[in-house]
Amino acid sequence: MSYSMHTHTCGELRETNIGEEVTLTGWVWHRRDHGGLIFVDLRDRAGVTQLEFDPEVCDEATFHEAETIRSEWPIMVSGTVRERPEGQNNDKLATGSIEVYVTNIAVLNTSKTPPFQIEDHVDTAEDVRLRYRYLDLRRPRMISNLKLRSDFTFALREAFHGSDFLEVETPSLFKSTPEGARDFLVPSRMQPGHFYALPQSPQLLKELLMVGGVERYYQVAKCFRDEDLRKDRQPEFTQVDVEMSFVTQDDVMGALERVFAEAFDRMGVHIELPLRRIQYWDAMDTYGTDKPDTRYGMELHDVTSIFSASKFKLFASAAATEGQFVKAINAKRAGAWPRARIDRLADVAAEFGAKGLAYIAFREDGSVTSPIVKFFSDEEMAALRAEMGVEPGDLVMFAVADRLHADEILGGMRSHMANELDVPREGHDFLWVVNFPLFHWDEDRKCLDSEHQPFTQPNEDQLDLLDTDPLAMGSHTMDFVMDGYEAGGGGMRIHDARLQEKILEKLGFTPERAQAQFGFLMNALEFGAPPMGGFALGLDRVCMLLAGADNIREVMAFPKTASGSDLMSAAPSEVTGAQLKEVSLRLL
Ligand code: ASP
Repeated sequence: MSYSMHTHTCGELRETNIGEEVTLTGWVWHRRDHGGLIFVDLRDRAGVTQLEFDPEVCDEATFHEAETIRSEWPIMVSGTVRERPEGQNNDKLATGSIEVYVTNIAVLNTSKTPPFQIEDHVDTAEDVRLRYRYLDLRRPRMISNLKLRSDFTFALREAFHGSDFLEVETPSLFKSTPEGARDFLVPSRMQPGHFYALPQSPQLLKELLMVGGVERYYQVAKCFRDEDLRKDRQPEFTQVDVEMSFVTQDDVMGALERVFAEAFDRMGVHIELPLRRIQYWDAMDTYGTDKPDTRYGMELHDVTSIFSASKFKLFASAAATEGQFVKAINAKRAGAWPRARIDRLADVAAEFGAKGLAYIAFREDGSVTSPIVKFFSDEEMAALRAEMGVEPGDLVMFAVADRLHADEILGGMRSHMANELDVPREGHDFLWVVNFPLFHWDEDRKCLDSEHQPFTQPNEDQLDLLDTDPLAMGSHTMDFVMDGYEAGGGGMRIHDARLQEKILEKLGFTPERAQAQFGFLMNALEFGAPPMGGFALGLDRVCMLLAGADNIREVMAFPKTASGSDLMSAAPSEVTGAQLKEVSLRLL
């Protein structure tokens, strides 16, 4: 590809180009005056090239310009590629063995001094980075993150296209969708008092596409959820949304696996197929989470039966109570921590719902530190040591609760301890977690809530539990887990209108509310809706993991802060009275 302003990018020239006349454009990165010679690192999206201005080679005007240029000025230069003088090669740079001996320069613009250095290794407060995001994006790391995202999205598109999926766009101005977060509302000017909702996902629309005969759909879709923002959440984010019809769950998972393997492969990441599948409750009981990172062990053990006759009342009474468990994990090396540091872990456990944290620290010298060990018999200790594979230096921590809460407490501790102990997590870890419960109990609203979403197909052989024990029902669901993150989720959908009505009723929808909110979907199900299932991949999160970043903001061009602001444009901002009037709104 040739452009009129440059012959090459700043990342392109090598020894093979030596002797060529070239023209480059880019920003002045670093400028060094070396006794009559001026060196400039010229930077563009592709890399950096060293320029040398030598008054013996370029004319006076060019050399004078080189003296005046400052950081972040965009310039265009022409000159000859030459080998760097002996001993001046820079192995860290792809262009490190050459430099351009400049004969001509054109200053394309000047620049104010940037509010922070455009460098990867300089830490700058994030609010300043976000206020001047266009400068932050010039940092090589940010450009490479955007490139990675573009490459991965393109690879996914190619893989879906190659597997006969149609990319179909669905509207952003739509009706409330049921992903469980608050909607962003958009007032209608033409219909005063009426609102669109920005889609939390294209869920209903993709099901309607299946009723419409699209058969295999995907979309790189913007989704909007008005919820409190956490580290890996943004009010608007991107899902690679998928739906298929006339398929079983195995078909959907098989098709997705192949597409993912192909796309990840293009990023240099190999996925072994078929992907491992873990049942929801196995994941919970083994790792304490439905998104396990299986690159390290520290697995949960059910030690309830060891303590059935214990003098330690808390454990013994749990063992005697149906549905209560004593579970434990063993954090290697933490048993050597000072007691105060171990005691502080109770605060961490409290964040995951524990009322306290019982532990035994097995010291290197063979002694134990523990507030509870005095209650244990030799047999109990021996059985515990055997079950937990105890060695000197281990810290065994316990949780006493019902199955779910005991799992969640220790799952939280497992991941906390892995971070504290810097447990190595090499490469990437991919797996499916399948067969989630259909419902969970919403303690705040005192009613059943969908574990995934209200359109999920229950396990057919458990339909009779709907009226007797709905919490025991499983569903045709799958989450795609990458490196301990939920990278995506989906499942089979209900395509039977009666069953859908019944599930909505179980979720507390009156027929009128169900009709008002989802009537258009229920109607469509009555017109020969095919069996269908689908999935959505969290593109921001996967790109974050591929980039080795610890925050999705690092892979988004213009993210928002935790309070939902765009610091660059100062959005959200006030609007004029006239604008409000137009949409028939008045502020309280
Ligand atoms: N719509 C779901 C979500 O956004 C994903 C799916 O089931 O396809 O979480």
